[in-house]
Amino acid sequence: MLFKLKFEYKITFAYLIIGGTWIIFSDELLDGIIPSKHTLTTLQTYKGWFYVAFTAMLLFFFLRKHLNKLRSAQRNAEESDQLKTAFLHNISHEIRTPMNSIVGFSELLNNPDLDFERRQNYTEIITQSSDGLLSIITDIVDIATIEAGQARLNETETNLNKMLRQLYEQFSLKVQQKQFSFSYKHSLADDDALIRTDSVKLLAILTNLIGNAMKFTQKGHVIFGYTKKENTLEFYVEDTGIGIPSGMHDEIFKRFRQVELTDDRQFGGSGLGLAISKAYVEMLGGKIWLTSILGKGSVFYFTIPYNKGFLTDMPEIQNQSEIKMDIKGSTTIVIAEDEDLNFMLLDELLSAPNLTILRALNGLEAVELCKSNRQIDLVLMDIKMPIMNGYEATERILELRPTLPIIVQTAYSSEADRTKAFACGCSDFISKPINKDQLIVKINKLLKN
Ligand code: ADP
Repeated sequence: MLFKLKFEYKITFAYLIIGGTWIIFSDELLDGIIPSKHTLTTLQTYKGWFYVAFTAMLLFFFLRKHLNKLRSAQRNAEESDQLKTAFLHNISHEIRTPMNSIVGFSELLNNPDLDFERRQNYTEIITQSSDGLLSIITDIVDIATIEAGQARLNETETNLNKMLRQLYEQFSLKVQQKQFSFSYKHSLADDDALIRTDSVKLLAILTNLIGNAMKFTQKGHVIFGYTKKENTLEFYVEDTGIGIPSGMHDEIFKRFRQVELTDDRQFGGSGLGLAISKAYVEMLGGKIWLTSILGKGSVFYFTIPYNKGFLTDMPEIQNQSEIKMDIKGSTTIVIAEDEDLNFMLLDELLSAPNLTILRALNGLEAVELCKSNRQIDLVLMDIKMPIMNGYEATERILELRPTLPIIVQTAYSSEADRTKAFACGCSDFISKPINKDQLIVKINKLLKN
């Protein structure tokens, strides 16, 4: 029984036994060494017992406090280890599932007898799976950036109402297969909805919350929006989905935490979205919380400060079908890209009448082309290239032609990469995988100037 006791109990008992033994036998022991006529009085014995008991108590509390801290650290480390293992197991599944569709349906596309409708269906599946894959990779990079303390705020003027409308349009396409109603509300007029904030982070938070609401809801509704309360904007995403048990309301904001962690889980996901959202909300100066009833639904809330903006640099939302290369007269674009497949893709995406595309295989070739050919109107610049990288090539080209628009197109996607590219003087930045519409909007805008 004694062996099962915790370490602090064992030490305290040992201390009491040694102390008591000393009080009881000290007279005889000392007498044998230094003969003395004095024996302990009853009062001295009581004082001795009191002293031993008091110091034993102090020792116990000190030890217990210290050991509990160590135990809790050990428990956390073990739990974190288990969570990481579960995360890796889960993430491997989350990556392999869309990869399976991409590889499988790409192979099916090779079938020459495929009718148009099926071909379109397969292409749609491949696009959706690629988007899913990309969002997992983005989450992993985002959480790593946050944990390394490298996430930075980049505030711009943003029109909230436009952002909400954009989100609504984007998610409406996904709602078509579901049986719930989807809507949004805003409480400010368009002019007042112009605010100063980090729109990329705000968009990431809302995208994650709405994405979750859709994932966990089968019927009823999903509504999102915001209200203004004094100098604060309070956003909400309400759903009538599966709900979250009350014991998990704080837990799910921790990385890798999911209500279901077992292999028979019904819903996919990396368990990173809410941890990223919480970190972003706090960076923006707000807080995030939720109310939920299991089986009935959840409402996620978060706040950000209301900083009124005065200008807008939000591009107008263009209708999907309107987005085409807007080439007036003969135009020449240089694509600096060392990877053949990436070049083929860009060449294909941009093809338009009156447009000449020249390829540079590295940064130095891009500089040489811009030096020898004054007809060049725009450069699409990759960053990681042999001989001369895109940063240096951009600087050299701008020394020769300071007004030539250069769009950096790169698989490096962090804020630091973006900042570095703009510091070299590029006019715009787009990260791979390249979204065709976004790229064309950027090119059209720069060619118009
Ligand atoms: P993921 O959704 O990728 O698993 P998140 O961090 O976004 O990761 O969410 C963590 C967990 O919180 C989810 O796995 C789910 O268990 C729970 N959760 C989040 N949003 C909702 C919601 N709207 N309804 C029910 N459960 C939710």
